[in-house]
Amino acid sequence: MNLHTRAVHAGDRKRTGVSNGQSWIPVTTPIHTATSFIYTDLDNLDRVFAKDLEGPSYGRYGNPTNEALEELVSALEGGAGSLACSSGMAALHMAINTALVDRRRVIVAAKLLYGATLGMLTRIFEPAGVETVWVDFDDPDAVAAAIAEHRPGALLMETIANPLLRVPALHRIGAMAKEAGVPLIVDNTFATPLIVRPLEYGATHVVHSLTKYLSGHGDVLGGIVTTGPEHLATLRDVSRTVGFTLGPFEAYLAMRGVKTFPLRMERQCANARAIADWLASHPAVDRVYYPADPNHPDAANIGALFAPGLYGGMVSFEVKGAGREEIFRLMNSLRVVVPATSLGDVHTMMLYPAMASHRELAPKHRARLGIRDNLVRLSAGIESPEDIFADLGQALENPK
Ligand SMILES: *Cc1c(COP(=O)(O)O)cnc(C)c1O
Repeated sequence: MNLHTRAVHAGDRKRTGVSNGQSWIPVTTPIHTATSFIYTDLDNLDRVFAKDLEGPSYGRYGNPTNEALEELVSALEGGAGSLACSSGMAALHMAINTALVDRRRVIVAAKLLYGATLGMLTRIFEPAGVETVWVDFDDPDAVAAAIAEHRPGALLMETIANPLLRVPALHRIGAMAKEAGVPLIVDNTFATPLIVRPLEYGATHVVHSLTKYLSGHGDVLGGIVTTGPEHLATLRDVSRTVGFTLGPFEAYLAMRGVKTFPLRMERQCANARAIADWLASHPAVDRVYYPADPNHPDAANIGALFAPGLYGGMVSFEVKGAGREEIFRLMNSLRVVVPATSLGDVHTMMLYPAMASHRELAPKHRARLGIRDNLVRLSAGIESPEDIFADLGQALENPK
């Protein structure tokens, strides 16, 4: 079934209710707020606890609303199952922790990762005895060498890396990971399953911040891990104990968002492409980073991995001669584009990496990664692109 169809149908209409001996089925999944579930025969609850029988028992172990969302995202990513968590970071923590359960506590990770992910590896996992080896994932040979030298317990990368929108050779790295028997964790938040489905290339764990494109309305915080069959039992087992479980209200909101995510994402990709073109011809703009650019350093990977005609909803660009002060004035002048730190929502947003996503890095470290002080990152929304051009135009030409 096509992804648009799966997005609308998967996960729903799995449970029946009964009134006066007649059974009925809710068309969309309701919010199940109950934290415990009983069965007409206690034997059945006993069997559920023994994992002999599938069914809800206690909220931390799962909930019918969460299960519906999990089935939906599994259907989109092509996974055996998913675990919905209270945030994208909780989902990443679960993926890393469970991938390493019975493996060497060494991670080979991409140097370019979401800021909080870098922080989690250095400030949470490192002191707990998990060593991270940082590798340039834009160089697959370096990844191969690191796998051979360090025999890691897991690899960690993003499909589209923030904020310069680099696209590592997931197809090659996935094949290497598979051959070496090393779990590959891929944060697919920026690409979404409309553009790339990492499990198809050898990833074992796909992580999303549900907060971004999948929910898409800026009103729910959540995360999800999707895995193949071999990692699912461990993921669920650990989750039962640590309880990073997503709440049922958030699960409902996220599921409502996912149904329209492919439509929104198509529009966001089209808008981002139009905005990238518009910016490229603007005299105040030095340089535009967008994956549709034929001169993009990873054009070959993009051609091999991305769905045709879709290049993502994120655009980064450098403003001529600008520093922190000029960027602040530019962002303060915006009237339609929202100067907010998130991404993937229906409204267009602009973020200043040096102040927000990459604030924790020393200026020298930012410079080494190619993140200049005149770089801004834009997340395209679903507005009419003309209104975004007009807003960017007035802000670039007459900043406050
Ligand atoms: C936002 C984000 C996260 C973290 O997600 P939260 O829902 O904020 O915890 C992780 N990875 C990427 C790429 C993100 O954009």
